[in-house]
Amino acid sequence: MVTSEYERRIAARFATFDQDGNGYIDREDFSGAAKALLAEFDTRARSDKGQALYGGAEAFWQGMAGIADRDGDQRITREEFVNGAVKRLRDTPDRFAEIARPFLHAVLAVAGGGDGDGAVGVEETARALKVLGVPEELAGSAAAALDTDGDGRIGEEEIVGAFARYFTVPE
Ligand code: CA
Ligand code: CA
Repeated sequence: MVTSEYERRIAARFATFDQDGNGYIDREDFSGAAKALLAEFDTRARSDKGQALYGGAEAFWQGMAGIADRDGDQRITREEFVNGAVKRLRDTPDRFAEIARPFLHAVLAVAGGGDGDGAVGVEETARALKVLGVPEELAGSAAAALDTDGDGRIGEEEIVGAFARYFTVPE
């Protein structure tokens, strides 16, 4: 079987979701990411923002499991991800954006302090990306690239849109 460039890129996306690197995606990857983000931004789990982040992470996991966990064992294997999730996400990128939105909304609230317009600075975004496993040397440029309108702030539509594009790579 020929592995396309497309499939290789999708496999790299799997590694992003598999936060603890144990070879499958499960609830622990999502709750672990929430926990790490709360630690980075010095936010208590029992606070409103902390609860929103855990809630968003759980909703994200449930949405991904609904799409990709074909055998229902509460784990998304690499094969389930590549053969199930990827094809369906590509067909319905808007759906993926909506699955991810509550989590991303909560990340912005945690990283941005929660006042103002709900947007966060490029620097805070880079910190969040590092916590989520983006290599340090790439996090800054990745965060800057998210600021599509160049105002130095990253808002919900920018981050949701970028997220959907990243994970629904066109062929
Ligand atoms: Ca994992
Ligand atoms: Ca499974």
